[in-house]
Amino acid sequence: MNRDFKKRDRELEERISRDYQRMVKECDLHLDLMERELPPPIEPLVEQLESSGISRRSFMKWSAATTAALMLPPIFKSRVARAAEQFGRVPVVWLHFAECTGCSEALLRTSYPNIDDLILETLSLEYHETLMAAAGYQAEENLEKALHDFPGKFICVIEGALPTGLNGKYLTLGAKGRTGMEIAREVTSKAAAVICIGSCSSFGNVQAAKPNPTDAKGISDALGIQTVNIPGCPPNPINFIGTILHYLMFGALPPLDSLGRPIWAYGKRIHDYCERRPHYDAGEFVEEWGDSGAQKGWCLYKMGCKGPYTYANCAKVRFNDGVSWPIMGGHGCMGCVEPNFWDTMAPLEKPIAEKTFGGGEKTVDDIGKILAGVTAAGIATHGTVSYIKRHNQKDFAKPEDEV
Ligand code: SF4
Ligand code: SF4
Repeated sequence: MNRDFKKRDRELEERISRDYQRMVKECDLHLDLMERELPPPIEPLVEQLESSGISRRSFMKWSAATTAALMLPPIFKSRVARAAEQFGRVPVVWLHFAECTGCSEALLRTSYPNIDDLILETLSLEYHETLMAAAGYQAEENLEKALHDFPGKFICVIEGALPTGLNGKYLTLGAKGRTGMEIAREVTSKAAAVICIGSCSSFGNVQAAKPNPTDAKGISDALGIQTVNIPGCPPNPINFIGTILHYLMFGALPPLDSLGRPIWAYGKRIHDYCERRPHYDAGEFVEEWGDSGAQKGWCLYKMGCKGPYTYANCAKVRFNDGVSWPIMGGHGCMGCVEPNFWDTMAPLEKPIAEKTFGGGEKTVDDIGKILAGVTAAGIATHGTVSYIKRHNQKDFAKPEDEV
Protein backbone atom coordinates (compact mmCIF):
# COMPACT_ATOMS: atom_id res chain seq x y z
CA MET A 1 0.00 0.00 0.00
CA ASN A 2 2.77 2.40 1.08
CA ARG A 3 4.74 1.49 -2.00
CA ASP A 4 1.72 2.35 -4.19
CA PHE A 5 1.48 5.79 -2.58
CA LYS A 6 5.21 6.41 -3.06
CA LYS A 7 4.98 5.36 -6.71
CA ARG A 8 2.01 7.64 -7.27
CA ASP A 9 3.81 10.55 -5.58
CA ARG A 10 6.89 9.97 -7.73
CA GLU A 11 4.81 9.90 -10.89
CA LEU A 12 3.04 13.08 -9.84
CA GLU A 13 6.35 14.83 -9.13
CA GLU A 14 7.70 13.76 -12.52
CA ARG A 15 4.58 15.01 -14.27
CA ILE A 16 4.75 18.38 -12.47
CA SER A 17 8.41 18.70 -13.29
CA ARG A 18 7.69 17.89 -16.98
CA ASP A 19 4.90 20.50 -16.97
CA TYR A 20 7.22 23.14 -15.53
CA GLN A 21 9.96 22.29 -18.01
CA ARG A 22 7.45 22.76 -20.82
CA MET A 23 6.32 26.08 -19.32
CA VAL A 24 9.94 27.26 -19.00
CA LYS A 25 10.58 26.43 -22.65
CA GLU A 26 7.41 28.22 -23.76
CA CYS A 27 8.28 31.19 -21.60
CA ASP A 28 11.81 31.52 -23.04
CA LEU A 29 10.52 31.23 -26.60
CA HIS A 30 7.89 33.87 -25.99
CA LEU A 31 10.26 36.30 -24.34
CA ASP A 32 12.63 35.90 -27.34
CA LEU A 33 9.71 36.56 -29.69
CA MET A 34 8.67 39.69 -27.80
CA GLU A 35 12.24 41.01 -27.94
CA ARG A 36 12.35 40.42 -31.70
CA GLU A 37 8.89 41.69 -32.61
CA LEU A 38 8.13 44.64 -30.39
CA PRO A 39 10.04 47.93 -30.30
CA PRO A 40 12.43 48.38 -27.33
CA PRO A 41 11.14 50.45 -24.41
CA ILE A 42 11.78 54.19 -24.70
CA GLU A 43 12.86 54.33 -21.07
CA PRO A 44 14.59 51.03 -20.21
CA LEU A 45 13.77 49.74 -16.75
CA VAL A 46 17.45 49.17 -15.87
CA GLU A 47 18.15 52.89 -16.34
CA GLN A 48 15.04 53.83 -14.35
CA LEU A 49 16.14 51.59 -11.47
CA GLU A 50 19.67 52.97 -11.52
CA SER A 51 18.56 56.60 -11.53
CA SER A 52 16.23 55.90 -8.61
CA GLY A 53 19.01 54.25 -6.63
CA ILE A 54 17.37 50.80 -6.64
CA SER A 55 19.97 48.03 -6.68
CA ARG A 56 19.89 44.91 -8.84
CA ARG A 57 19.65 42.91 -5.64
CA SER A 58 16.43 44.71 -4.62
CA PHE A 59 15.05 44.17 -8.11
CA MET A 60 15.78 40.42 -7.88
CA LYS A 61 14.08 40.34 -4.46
CA TRP A 62 11.07 42.01 -6.05
CA SER A 63 11.17 39.41 -8.88
CA ALA A 64 11.19 36.57 -6.33
CA ALA A 65 8.19 38.04 -4.48
CA THR A 66 6.31 38.63 -7.74
CA THR A 67 7.07 35.08 -8.92
CA ALA A 68 5.56 33.76 -5.70
CA ALA A 69 2.55 36.08 -6.00
CA LEU A 70 1.99 34.77 -9.54
CA MET A 71 2.03 31.26 -8.07
CA LEU A 72 5.01 30.24 -10.21
CA PRO A 73 7.96 28.18 -8.91
CA PRO A 74 11.34 29.88 -8.19
CA ILE A 75 12.75 28.78 -11.55
CA PHE A 76 10.70 31.63 -13.06
CA LYS A 77 12.35 34.32 -10.94
CA SER A 78 14.88 35.36 -13.59
CA ARG A 79 12.17 35.14 -16.26
CA VAL A 80 9.89 37.45 -14.29
CA ALA A 81 12.83 39.89 -14.10
CA ARG A 82 13.38 39.61 -17.86
CA ALA A 83 9.68 40.12 -18.56
CA ALA A 84 9.63 43.18 -16.28
CA GLU A 85 12.50 44.63 -18.33
CA GLN A 86 10.33 44.18 -21.44
CA PHE A 87 7.24 45.70 -19.88
CA GLY A 88 7.63 48.84 -21.96
CA ARG A 89 7.49 46.88 -25.23
CA VAL A 90 3.76 46.22 -25.06
CA PRO A 91 1.80 49.00 -26.75
CA VAL A 92 -1.09 50.12 -24.56
CA VAL A 93 -4.17 52.14 -25.43
CA TRP A 94 -5.77 53.35 -22.19
CA LEU A 95 -9.38 54.51 -22.38
CA HIS A 96 -11.31 56.48 -19.76
CA PHE A 97 -15.07 56.32 -19.44
CA ALA A 98 -17.34 57.04 -16.45
CA GLU A 99 -14.91 57.17 -13.53
CA CYS A 100 -12.88 59.39 -11.21
CA THR A 101 -9.40 58.62 -12.69
CA GLY A 102 -8.44 57.28 -9.27
CA CYS A 103 -7.04 54.09 -10.77
CA SER A 104 -4.62 56.02 -13.02
CA GLU A 105 -3.72 58.24 -10.10
CA ALA A 106 -3.07 55.26 -7.85
CA LEU A 107 -1.08 53.37 -10.45
CA LEU A 108 0.92 56.01 -12.24
CA ARG A 109 1.48 58.81 -9.75
CA THR A 110 3.86 58.61 -6.88
CA SER A 111 6.23 60.86 -5.02
CA TYR A 112 8.44 58.02 -3.78
CA PRO A 113 8.75 55.53 -6.63
CA ASN A 114 9.08 51.85 -5.78
CA ILE A 115 9.81 49.08 -8.28
CA ASP A 116 6.11 48.68 -9.21
CA ASP A 117 5.88 52.39 -9.97
CA LEU A 118 9.04 52.38 -12.06
CA ILE A 119 7.81 49.41 -14.10
CA LEU A 120 4.50 51.18 -14.73
CA GLU A 121 6.41 54.26 -15.84
CA THR A 122 7.99 52.25 -18.67
CA LEU A 123 4.54 51.40 -20.10
CA SER A 124 4.37 52.28 -23.78
CA LEU A 125 1.24 54.41 -23.55
CA GLU A 126 0.19 55.09 -27.13
CA TYR A 127 -2.93 56.86 -25.93
CA HIS A 128 -3.97 57.94 -22.42
CA GLU A 129 -6.44 60.80 -22.09
CA THR A 130 -5.20 61.95 -18.68
CA LEU A 131 -1.49 61.86 -19.40
CA MET A 132 -1.11 62.85 -23.05
CA ALA A 133 -0.46 66.45 -24.02
CA ALA A 134 -2.69 66.31 -27.11
CA ALA A 135 -6.30 67.44 -27.00
CA GLY A 136 -9.31 67.65 -29.34
CA TYR A 137 -8.81 66.45 -32.93
CA GLN A 138 -5.09 65.85 -32.33
CA ALA A 139 -5.93 63.41 -29.53
CA GLU A 140 -8.32 61.57 -31.81
CA GLU A 141 -5.61 61.32 -34.47
CA ASN A 142 -3.28 59.79 -31.84
CA LEU A 143 -5.85 57.11 -31.12
CA GLU A 144 -6.39 56.38 -34.81
CA LYS A 145 -2.61 56.15 -35.30
CA ALA A 146 -2.22 53.69 -32.41
CA LEU A 147 -4.98 51.48 -33.80
CA HIS A 148 -3.39 51.66 -37.25
CA ASP A 149 0.20 51.02 -36.11
CA PHE A 150 -0.49 48.10 -33.74
CA PRO A 151 -3.55 46.23 -35.04
CA GLY A 152 -4.17 43.13 -32.92
CA LYS A 153 -0.97 43.80 -30.95
CA PHE A 154 -1.85 46.44 -28.39
CA ILE A 155 -3.46 45.90 -25.03
CA CYS A 156 -6.56 47.96 -24.42
CA VAL A 157 -6.77 49.03 -20.78
CA ILE A 158 -10.11 50.49 -19.75
CA GLU A 159 -10.81 52.60 -16.71
CA GLY A 160 -14.45 53.46 -15.99
CA ALA A 161 -17.92 52.09 -16.59
CA LEU A 162 -19.99 52.52 -19.74
CA PRO A 163 -23.35 54.28 -19.41
CA THR A 164 -25.58 52.35 -21.80
CA GLY A 165 -28.86 54.26 -21.30
CA LEU A 166 -30.17 56.52 -24.11
CA ASN A 167 -28.10 54.50 -26.53
CA GLY A 168 -24.89 55.50 -24.72
CA LYS A 169 -25.56 59.27 -24.97
CA TYR A 170 -24.96 59.92 -21.26
CA LEU A 171 -21.25 59.75 -22.10
CA THR A 172 -19.86 61.45 -25.20
CA LEU A 173 -16.16 62.09 -25.64
CA GLY A 174 -13.73 63.98 -27.82
CA ALA A 175 -14.01 66.52 -30.59
CA LYS A 176 -16.33 64.34 -32.66
CA GLY A 177 -18.67 63.70 -29.74
CA ARG A 178 -18.68 59.91 -30.10
CA THR A 179 -20.30 57.90 -27.34
CA GLY A 180 -18.17 55.83 -24.97
CA MET A 181 -19.98 52.76 -26.33
CA GLU A 182 -18.87 53.55 -29.92
CA ILE A 183 -15.26 54.17 -28.95
CA ALA A 184 -15.10 51.08 -26.73
CA ARG A 185 -16.59 48.88 -29.44
CA GLU A 186 -14.09 50.05 -32.04
CA VAL A 187 -10.96 49.92 -29.88
CA THR A 188 -11.68 46.60 -28.15
CA SER A 189 -12.39 44.90 -31.49
CA LYS A 190 -8.83 45.73 -32.63
CA ALA A 191 -6.99 44.89 -29.39
CA ALA A 192 -4.99 41.76 -28.55
CA ALA A 193 -6.64 41.74 -25.14
CA VAL A 194 -8.86 43.97 -23.04
CA ILE A 195 -7.91 44.60 -19.42
CA CYS A 196 -10.44 46.37 -17.22
CA ILE A 197 -8.60 48.24 -14.53
CA GLY A 198 -10.61 48.96 -11.39
CA SER A 199 -14.10 48.03 -10.28
CA CYS A 200 -15.87 50.56 -12.56
CA SER A 201 -14.78 49.04 -15.87
CA SER A 202 -14.89 45.54 -14.37
CA PHE A 203 -18.39 45.65 -12.90
CA GLY A 204 -19.86 49.18 -13.10
CA ASN A 205 -19.05 50.08 -9.46
CA VAL A 206 -20.49 53.33 -8.03
CA GLN A 207 -21.83 54.45 -11.42
CA ALA A 208 -23.93 51.28 -11.54
CA ALA A 209 -25.10 51.50 -7.92
CA LYS A 210 -28.86 51.75 -7.39
CA PRO A 211 -30.78 53.52 -8.89
CA ASN A 212 -28.22 53.63 -11.72
CA PRO A 213 -29.97 56.31 -13.79
CA THR A 214 -27.56 56.04 -16.74
CA ASP A 215 -27.75 52.24 -16.86
CA ALA A 216 -23.96 52.10 -16.38
CA LYS A 217 -22.32 48.69 -16.78
CA GLY A 218 -18.91 47.09 -16.72
CA ILE A 219 -17.28 46.68 -20.14
CA SER A 220 -17.90 42.97 -20.42
CA ASP A 221 -21.60 43.42 -19.68
CA ALA A 222 -22.00 46.50 -21.85
CA LEU A 223 -20.26 45.10 -24.94
CA GLY A 224 -20.85 41.37 -24.51
CA ILE A 225 -17.14 40.56 -24.74
CA GLN A 226 -14.84 38.78 -22.34
CA THR A 227 -12.42 41.04 -20.53
CA VAL A 228 -9.69 40.46 -17.99
CA ASN A 229 -10.91 42.21 -14.87
CA ILE A 230 -8.56 43.72 -12.28
CA PRO A 231 -11.15 45.11 -9.86
CA GLY A 232 -10.41 47.21 -6.80
CA CYS A 233 -11.24 50.76 -5.84
CA PRO A 234 -8.44 51.39 -6.68
CA PRO A 235 -6.79 48.08 -7.67
CA ASN A 236 -3.43 46.98 -6.38
CA PRO A 237 -0.75 47.82 -9.02
CA ILE A 238 0.85 44.40 -8.66
CA ASN A 239 -2.33 42.71 -9.93
CA PHE A 240 -2.12 44.73 -13.14
CA ILE A 241 1.65 44.32 -13.48
CA GLY A 242 1.45 40.56 -12.84
CA THR A 243 -1.21 40.15 -15.50
CA ILE A 244 0.92 41.91 -18.13
CA LEU A 245 4.02 39.99 -17.02
CA HIS A 246 2.12 36.74 -17.52
CA TYR A 247 1.18 37.91 -21.02
CA LEU A 248 4.81 38.76 -21.80
CA MET A 249 6.07 35.43 -20.50
CA PHE A 250 3.51 33.08 -21.99
CA GLY A 251 1.75 35.04 -24.75
CA ALA A 252 -1.47 34.46 -22.87
CA LEU A 253 -3.33 36.12 -20.08
CA PRO A 254 -3.48 34.18 -16.82
CA PRO A 255 -6.31 31.79 -15.95
CA LEU A 256 -9.44 33.65 -14.87
CA ASP A 257 -12.31 32.99 -12.48
CA SER A 258 -15.95 33.15 -13.54
CA LEU A 259 -15.92 36.94 -13.07
CA GLY A 260 -12.95 37.40 -15.39
CA ARG A 261 -10.44 37.99 -12.55
CA PRO A 262 -6.93 36.43 -12.62
CA ILE A 263 -7.08 33.51 -10.22
CA TRP A 264 -3.55 34.10 -8.94
CA ALA A 265 -4.70 37.45 -7.54
CA TYR A 266 -8.39 36.91 -6.79
CA GLY A 267 -8.57 33.18 -6.08
CA LYS A 268 -8.70 33.30 -2.28
CA ARG A 269 -10.80 35.12 0.26
CA ILE A 270 -9.45 38.08 2.23
CA HIS A 271 -10.59 36.15 5.31
CA ASP A 272 -8.27 33.23 4.43
CA TYR A 273 -5.10 35.34 4.60
CA CYS A 274 -6.13 37.89 7.23
CA GLU A 275 -3.79 38.34 10.19
CA ARG A 276 -6.83 38.93 12.44
CA ARG A 277 -8.25 35.52 11.57
CA PRO A 278 -7.13 33.78 14.81
CA HIS A 279 -9.28 36.33 16.70
CA TYR A 280 -12.25 35.51 14.50
CA ASP A 281 -11.77 31.82 15.28
CA ALA A 282 -11.45 32.61 18.98
CA GLY A 283 -14.63 34.74 18.94
CA GLU A 284 -12.69 37.95 19.77
CA PHE A 285 -14.32 40.90 18.03
CA VAL A 286 -14.07 44.68 17.98
CA GLU A 287 -17.50 45.83 19.20
CA GLU A 288 -17.01 49.58 18.85
CA TRP A 289 -14.42 51.81 17.12
CA GLY A 290 -11.52 52.43 19.49
CA ASP A 291 -12.55 49.85 22.12
CA SER A 292 -10.04 47.57 23.83
CA GLY A 293 -10.58 44.90 21.13
CA ALA A 294 -9.65 47.46 18.47
CA GLN A 295 -6.50 48.30 20.42
CA LYS A 296 -5.61 44.62 20.61
CA GLY A 297 -6.13 44.09 16.87
CA TRP A 298 -9.16 41.79 17.17
CA CYS A 299 -11.41 40.76 14.29
CA LEU A 300 -13.46 43.47 12.56
CA TYR A 301 -16.36 41.27 11.47
CA LYS A 302 -18.88 42.99 13.77
CA MET A 303 -17.70 46.38 12.46
CA GLY A 304 -18.81 45.34 9.01
CA CYS A 305 -15.71 43.64 7.62
CA LYS A 306 -16.64 41.93 4.35
CA GLY A 307 -13.44 39.87 4.19
CA PRO A 308 -15.34 36.57 4.42
CA TYR A 309 -17.22 37.37 1.17
CA THR A 310 -14.38 39.00 -0.75
CA TYR A 311 -11.84 37.35 -3.05
CA ALA A 312 -8.56 39.26 -3.28
CA ASN A 313 -4.89 39.09 -2.31
CA CYS A 314 -4.75 42.41 -0.37
CA ALA A 315 -3.54 40.72 2.82
CA LYS A 316 -0.75 38.97 0.94
CA VAL A 317 0.60 41.72 -1.30
CA ARG A 318 -0.58 44.76 0.72
CA PHE A 319 -0.33 48.34 -0.59
CA ASN A 320 2.35 51.06 -0.77
CA ASP A 321 5.32 48.76 -1.24
CA GLY A 322 3.86 46.14 1.08
CA VAL A 323 3.68 48.53 4.04
CA SER A 324 0.07 47.96 5.06
CA TRP A 325 -3.47 47.20 3.95
CA PRO A 326 -6.93 48.32 5.16
CA ILE A 327 -7.54 45.64 7.81
CA MET A 328 -4.03 46.09 9.17
CA GLY A 329 -4.84 49.80 9.41
CA GLY A 330 -7.89 49.03 11.55
CA HIS A 331 -10.86 49.18 9.16
CA GLY A 332 -12.79 46.22 7.79
CA CYS A 333 -12.70 45.21 4.14
CA MET A 334 -15.55 46.77 2.12
CA GLY A 335 -15.50 44.11 -0.58
CA CYS A 336 -14.44 46.60 -3.25
CA VAL A 337 -13.37 43.89 -5.73
CA GLU A 338 -16.79 42.23 -5.84
CA PRO A 339 -19.55 43.10 -8.36
CA ASN A 340 -22.02 45.77 -7.18
CA PHE A 341 -20.36 46.03 -3.78
CA TRP A 342 -22.06 49.37 -3.03
CA ASP A 343 -25.37 47.53 -3.07
CA THR A 344 -24.48 43.97 -2.06
CA MET A 345 -22.02 44.83 0.75
CA ALA A 346 -24.01 47.69 2.29
CA PRO A 347 -24.06 48.85 5.04
CA LEU A 348 -20.29 49.03 4.81
CA GLU A 349 -19.63 49.39 8.56
CA LYS A 350 -22.16 46.83 9.78
CA PRO A 351 -22.45 43.10 9.18
CA ILE A 352 -24.82 42.32 6.34
CA ALA A 353 -28.19 42.05 8.11
CA GLU A 354 -29.38 38.67 6.95
CA LYS A 355 -25.94 37.13 7.29
CA THR A 356 -24.83 38.30 10.72
CA PHE A 357 -22.29 36.48 12.83
CA GLY A 358 -24.15 34.21 15.21
CA GLY A 359 -26.20 32.53 12.51
CA GLY A 360 -24.58 29.25 13.47
CA GLU A 361 -21.44 29.65 11.33
CA LYS A 362 -18.25 28.77 13.16
CA THR A 363 -15.67 28.48 10.47
CA VAL A 364 -14.93 30.27 7.27
CA ASP A 365 -16.28 27.29 5.39
CA ASP A 366 -19.61 27.61 7.16
CA ILE A 367 -19.66 31.27 6.20
CA GLY A 368 -18.76 30.31 2.66
CA LYS A 369 -21.76 27.96 2.48
CA ILE A 370 -24.13 30.55 3.90
CA LEU A 371 -22.85 33.34 1.70
CA ALA A 372 -22.42 31.47 -1.53
CA GLY A 373 -24.91 33.85 -3.11
CA VAL A 374 -22.88 36.99 -2.35
CA THR A 375 -20.00 36.21 -4.63
CA ALA A 376 -19.74 33.84 -7.52
CA ALA A 377 -16.01 33.48 -7.81
CA GLY A 378 -16.15 29.93 -9.14
CA ILE A 379 -12.91 28.95 -10.76
CA ALA A 380 -14.16 28.17 -14.18
CA THR A 381 -12.40 29.53 -17.22
CA HIS A 382 -8.97 30.07 -18.62
CA GLY A 383 -8.69 33.46 -20.29
CA THR A 384 -6.08 33.55 -22.96
CA VAL A 385 -5.60 36.07 -25.69
CA SER A 386 -6.54 33.47 -28.27
CA TYR A 387 -9.58 32.61 -26.20
CA ILE A 388 -10.63 36.24 -26.14
CA LYS A 389 -10.15 36.56 -29.86
CA ARG A 390 -11.99 33.33 -30.66
CA HIS A 391 -14.87 34.03 -28.30
CA ASN A 392 -15.55 37.69 -28.42
CA GLN A 393 -19.12 37.01 -27.43
CA LYS A 394 -19.46 36.77 -23.67
CA ASP A 395 -19.27 33.16 -22.64
CA PHE A 396 -17.75 32.62 -19.25
CA ALA A 397 -18.63 28.99 -18.90
CA LYS A 398 -16.56 27.36 -21.62
CA PRO A 399 -15.02 24.13 -20.45
CA GLU A 400 -11.28 24.33 -19.90
CA ASP A 401 -10.46 21.76 -22.54
CA GLU A 402 -11.77 24.10 -25.20
CA VAL A 403 -9.30 26.78 -24.26
S1 SF4 B 1 -13.80 39.07 9.34
FE1 SF4 B 1 -12.39 40.55 8.46
S2 SF4 B 1 -11.01 41.19 10.14
FE2 SF4 B 1 -12.07 39.33 10.77
S3 SF4 B 1 -10.68 37.69 10.19
FE3 SF4 B 1 -12.12 37.91 8.52
S4 SF4 B 1 -11.14 39.30 7.11
FE4 SF4 B 1 -10.05 39.51 9.05
S1 SF4 C 1 -9.21 45.05 1.80
FE1 SF4 C 1 -11.21 44.82 0.80
S2 SF4 C 1 -11.99 46.93 0.49
FE2 SF4 C 1 -9.79 47.06 0.94
S3 SF4 C 1 -8.79 47.06 -1.07
FE3 SF4 C 1 -8.83 44.91 -0.39
S4 SF4 C 1 -10.75 44.09 -1.27
FE4 SF4 C 1 -10.90 46.34 -1.38
